[in-house]
Order: sequence, then structure tokens, then C-alpha cells
Amino acid sequence: MSTFVNDFMAELKAKNPAEPEFHQAAQEVAESLEVVIDRNPAYRKMKILERIAEPDRVIVFRVPWIDDAGEVQVNRGFRIEMNSAIGPYKGGLRFHPSVYLGLLKFLAFEQVFKNSLTTLPMGGGKGGSDFDPKGKSDNEVMRFCQSFMLELQRHIGQFTDVPAGDIGVGGREIGYLFGQYKRVRNEFTGVLTGKGINWGGSLIRPEATGYGSVYFAAEMLATRGETLEGKKCLVSGSGNVAQYTMEKIIDLGGKAVTFSDSSGYIYDEAGIDRAKLAFILELKNVKRGRVKEYADAYPGAVFTPADKEREHNPLWTHQADCAFPSATQNEINAKDAQNLLDNGVSVVSEGSNMPTVPEGVELFVEKGILYGPGKAANAGGVATSGLEMSQNSLRLNWTREEVDARLRGIMKAIHKQCVDAAAAYDMKGNYVAGANIAGFLKVADSMLDQGVI
Ligand code: NDP
Repeated sequence: MSTFVNDFMAELKAKNPAEPEFHQAAQEVAESLEVVIDRNPAYRKMKILERIAEPDRVIVFRVPWIDDAGEVQVNRGFRIEMNSAIGPYKGGLRFHPSVYLGLLKFLAFEQVFKNSLTTLPMGGGKGGSDFDPKGKSDNEVMRFCQSFMLELQRHIGQFTDVPAGDIGVGGREIGYLFGQYKRVRNEFTGVLTGKGINWGGSLIRPEATGYGSVYFAAEMLATRGETLEGKKCLVSGSGNVAQYTMEKIIDLGGKAVTFSDSSGYIYDEAGIDRAKLAFILELKNVKRGRVKEYADAYPGAVFTPADKEREHNPLWTHQADCAFPSATQNEINAKDAQNLLDNGVSVVSEGSNMPTVPEGVELFVEKGILYGPGKAANAGGVATSGLEMSQNSLRLNWTREEVDARLRGIMKAIHKQCVDAAAAYDMKGNYVAGANIAGFLKVADSMLDQGVI
């Protein structure tokens, strides 16, 4: 490692103690950029990466609300406005009990590079709360969202910061958040994306992250003259990203055989077809049930409960061609990565953010498999959020076909940027380096243009 990476990481860790996910994300980017910074001393002199790693601002606030039993509950809300060199802050809100400042800093940092890769003018941000929507009534979720937005509305706006969904924040939550923003500010603007189709949302936005991750896999496969046709695919998660990943796998002729939630996973040897997928959507989006119910409905499928004591995730031990992690960060540890390789997986396209630990990433890169890191492979979601913002500004709605064609074009462009940047820095086929470098250059050059701010 050069002195640059060591010095940068030492300072970042001293300034941001006890934030391991943020350290992990920053380390990976710094290592990829070493060669870029060596070739372009202005980036080092002007402390570009140091400035990207220091948020423009961090907002932390109390979110009090009253549960159905009449008890007062207190959660903590956050918004990290990370970087606005190329456009207004943009990035999701996550509602999950594991949310804390360091987790959101990692996500906001990644978002800066991801948004840059989309080719659209969006800066990076992220936010959320340690609130857990699971097991809460609709009214409780609504009261929480209203209280959250009562504070957040001071800091966001269509030209400033445009949040979206993430884990625990889907169409229901965006609806309550948007309603409260509109009520308090008395304005109807595109301040959030992922909106309902009747009130400013874009067709294909719910599908975009999952579709995009499969399109990215298809682009990677095309470099080897292959397609998804007939490929067996492992998918994790069963939320927004996983659902539409499975749908696009079916569309492109592949066969998804797994999905999961935090209670365990399903293996369905026969493959998940459209009727079974409709069952999963109903189970997860309407009944808000657990994946085990799928095995009750389809006896050919096997449910394996989650076991925190196990040193690996058995979902990743099945023989397959492709893997689409689509649940959460660090869901593929080093052993899981080895298991995937040992069982024939040669394509990994990350729907979730930073699902693979650094040792796993190293293994994938070393083996030369087609490995698409999250900041490239899952950028279709935020890209389509960008398209939602464009439609809101134009006061127009594009058709499903038009948005899908644009999404596909953007995923193609992201893939090409990764390939070209990796080749330009003598790391042909390394999508990790390619994504980090291409994402960085646009932001870095904009920051040079805009002076020391
Ligand atoms: P959802 O809340 O819709 O679904 C998340 C899924 O992952 C659920 O099945 C959930 O299970 C599972 N999960 C979450 N946390 C854990 C955990 N700690 N352990 C095991 N399982 C877990 O979220 P999304 O589908 O929107 O997001 C999934 C991933 O994709 C995240 O990493 C997110 O940052 C990333 N992403 C999402 C985008 C989007 O547009 N939504 C855009 C780009 C990236 P359970 O219900 O049991 O918690």
C-alpha cells in the first residue's frame, strides 16, 4: 500500500472512530484510486478524496411518535449530505434497527460514486432512522413518517436534496413522507423519488434496481459472448431489489432458485416462475409475511432457518452460474465467496450495497470472474430516480417502454465506463477498480473546477 492510502485511512479512522462499514467502503475506494492519484498529483494536492470523505453536512434529529398503545416512542433520524459537486444530494432513506451514523456514512460515500456513474447530474446523500417498520401497524408507520418528515423537510428540496427508498422504506413509507412534506411546505414538487404513479412517480422505478442489476450481469456476460439463457441464479433477500431481480432473470431466460429474509432462505430446485413470484410479491408487499410461508405453499421448496452461529450462509452453497446478492451489506463473507466459486458461480452482480466483505472481493477479482460491484450493478435504481426527477421537472410521464429503454441504455453506459476506466489504468476486466475510478473522475474534476469549498 502507498503512503497515500495509509495516510488517508489513518486520518479517516481517527476522525470517524467506531464506523467499520465506512472504513471498509473508504479503504476499497482509496486502494482503487491510488494509481489515479499517482498519475494526477492535483487530486492529492487539492485533497479531493479527503474532501469527498468529509460530508458537506450531517443532520441528526429526534423523532418522537406515539404507538398504538398510546406510549411515546423516540427514534433517531439522520440525513448525510455527502457531496453536491455534480448535482443535488440524492440517495435513499433506510429504516432498520441497525441504522447508525457510520452505516449511513458508508452508504452516502458509495452513493457519490454511484450517482456519478449513472451519467445523470446527481450528488450523493443518504439518510434514515433506527426505526423498525417490521411488526408496526400502518398507522404507527404513518405517525413515525410524519414526525420524521416534520424535521427533515427543513433540509431537503427538489433543488437541494431528493431522498428515495432503501431497506424498510418502500412505496407505503414514501407516500406518508411525501404527504407530510406537501402539507407542511404547501408545495407539490419532486422532493422524493419512488412516488406513486398517480402523484408524480415514474413507471419502472420500483423495478429499476433489480432490473438494472440483471441488465448489468447481461452486459458482463456479453463480453464473453454469453447470455443469461438457461443460467441458474442464486438471489438473496426478498424485498424490492430481490423481487425485480427475480422477475428480470425470468424475462431473460434464467432460473432463480433461492431468495431469503432475515428469518432464513428458500431453495426451490424447480425454479421460481411468474406465478411463484406473484406469490412472493403478495407475501412480502401486502401480507408482510416471512419466507417460510412459500415452502408451505410450494412443498417442493425447502426452507432453511437463519442461524447466526453458522460461519457461512448455506444459501451460497448451491450449485449455480450466477449470484445476485440483494439483501444487505456484508452478506457474503470470505467463506461464502469461496463456496460460490467452488460451486460454479462465475457471475456476481450486486443488487445490495457492499454485500461482499473485502476478502471476498479480493477472491472474485483474483479469480477473474465477472464481478459487478454494487455501486455499478445496482445504480439502475438511482438512475431511474434521476429519470423520475426529469419527468417531474418536465411535468410529463414517460411510458414504461421509454423508461425501461433509458434504464437499459444507462446500465450499458455504466458498464462501458467501468470497462474503459479499468483498461485505461491497466486493470482490464476489474469492475471494482473501473467503477471506483470512473465514478471518482467526474466528481473530482468538478470539484477542481469549483475551488476549495
Ligand atoms: P427491502 O427492505 O425491500 O428488502 C430488504 C431485504 O433484505 C428483506 O428481504 C430483508 O429481510 C433482507 N435483509 C435486510 N437486512 C437484513 C439483515 N441484516 N440480515 C438478513 N436479511 C436482511 O430493501 P431493498 O430491497 O430496497 O434493499 C436491499 C439492498 O439493496 C440494500 O443493500 C439496499 O441498500 C440496496 N439498494 C436498494 C435500492 C432500491 O432502489 N431499493 C437501490 C440500490 C441499492 P427482512 O424483511 O427479514 O429484514
